[in-house]
Amino acid sequence: TIRTRFAPSPTGYLHIGGARTALFSWLYARKHGGTFILRIEDTDLERSTIDAVNAILEGMTWLGLEYDEGPFYQTHRFERYRAVAEQLLNEGKAYRCYCTKEELDSRRAEQLARKEKPRYDGRCRHRVEPREGVQPVIRFRNPDDGEVVVDDLVRGRVVVKNSELDDLIILRSDGTPTYNFTVVVDDLDMKITHVIRGDDHLNNTPRQINILEALGAPLPKYAHVPMILGPDGAKLSKRHGAVSVMQYRDDGYLPEALINYLVRLGWSHGDQEIFSVDEMIELFDIADINHSASSFNPEKLLWLNHHYIMHSDPLRVAHHLRWHLGRLDIDPAQGPDPVKVVEAQRERCKTLVDMAKASVFFYKDFDTYDEKAAAKHLTSDTLAALQALETQLWALEDWRREAIHQVVLKTAETLGVKLGGVAQPLRVAVSGTTVSPPIDITLELLGKDTTLARIERAIA
Ligand code: GLU
Repeated sequence: TIRTRFAPSPTGYLHIGGARTALFSWLYARKHGGTFILRIEDTDLERSTIDAVNAILEGMTWLGLEYDEGPFYQTHRFERYRAVAEQLLNEGKAYRCYCTKEELDSRRAEQLARKEKPRYDGRCRHRVEPREGVQPVIRFRNPDDGEVVVDDLVRGRVVVKNSELDDLIILRSDGTPTYNFTVVVDDLDMKITHVIRGDDHLNNTPRQINILEALGAPLPKYAHVPMILGPDGAKLSKRHGAVSVMQYRDDGYLPEALINYLVRLGWSHGDQEIFSVDEMIELFDIADINHSASSFNPEKLLWLNHHYIMHSDPLRVAHHLRWHLGRLDIDPAQGPDPVKVVEAQRERCKTLVDMAKASVFFYKDFDTYDEKAAAKHLTSDTLAALQALETQLWALEDWRREAIHQVVLKTAETLGVKLGGVAQPLRVAVSGTTVSPPIDITLELLGKDTTLARIERAIA
């Protein structure tokens, strides 16, 4: 059965690139009824933080990428890595290296002076006596001859000569394992069948394959996913704007929009753009991952977000809207049902932040009118319209949009002005601005009491 993993290093938030790798691994497992594993690669004790772990877990949850096993922490597995290193030592596939930093540095300088590629020269392979006062590292004895073939599912066949790889340190002198070694031991122990990861790891793969082979382990299949570029063609980074998944939540994106965006970032199925998660699971295939880098397009993400705000179940959208209202210190219980607000607002709001801001007036009174709006629409000329509206609305018993619409229409007719001549002053009076959903819907949601109170205040 298929077993995939997402193996982030907790040195920062969950970023777009990591989330996409996680999504591809998750989709592949889901498609094949397999198992998706979360592994936290926290061996870099200096740079790993618990906050970063939490941010990654939070991001995965928000995106809906639930894992079947884990999270496993590499820092909990040091004994296991040491045991495997010991095993390799005993089998002669690894050795203790006593070369000091000074020696390594000076040999490196000599190699560079000879214009050679600097690499460990294997000196300690044959050393029999320990060196007094030197705490050794353990190096993997890389094969000297032949080549390593990576049959990458995305990149195709990648061949590296063993003569280009040197004897990698697997345990440092303080006994801590190194990155390539922990990945190998974990992929083996966790019975990973498909390693899907960024192609910045491709140059580690031949080394990892050699260690796996020395352990007599079956090789997983590898799929190295091309990187993501910013709009300017450089590797996507902070300076291109938000790259953290949670930042997109905070900026008012729906998780389904971001998921849809991420799946298309480096994968395609014909020219289809919109995919439900079920569809993605059904259609996803590693063979359809793009072979070249993809570029991040914030406008497209915004377009998808609006699509999902329009077409997702309003109940779901309302759930997220509540959260955004809360961030604005709004208690959604103090006004209309957020589901109705979503239905009223979704056409004109591309993000939930926009929607929340544009909906504050439903829940909380405002202190000031938008200056331009008031100057134009709350004048002595519009006083009559507001007064007439107040009287008519006060008398209205059936507080529903259709009836409200009739009142607004009739008032305009009676006064002999265009609909806007009545609707705009009314809108400014109740919302403080000139932008709101259609006026009848706005008033229905606002309720009769609030509507009348705000009109009275505008007249006063
Ligand atoms: N921990 C690595 C990273 O965060 C991923 C390693 C892997 O997927 O093999 O980039």
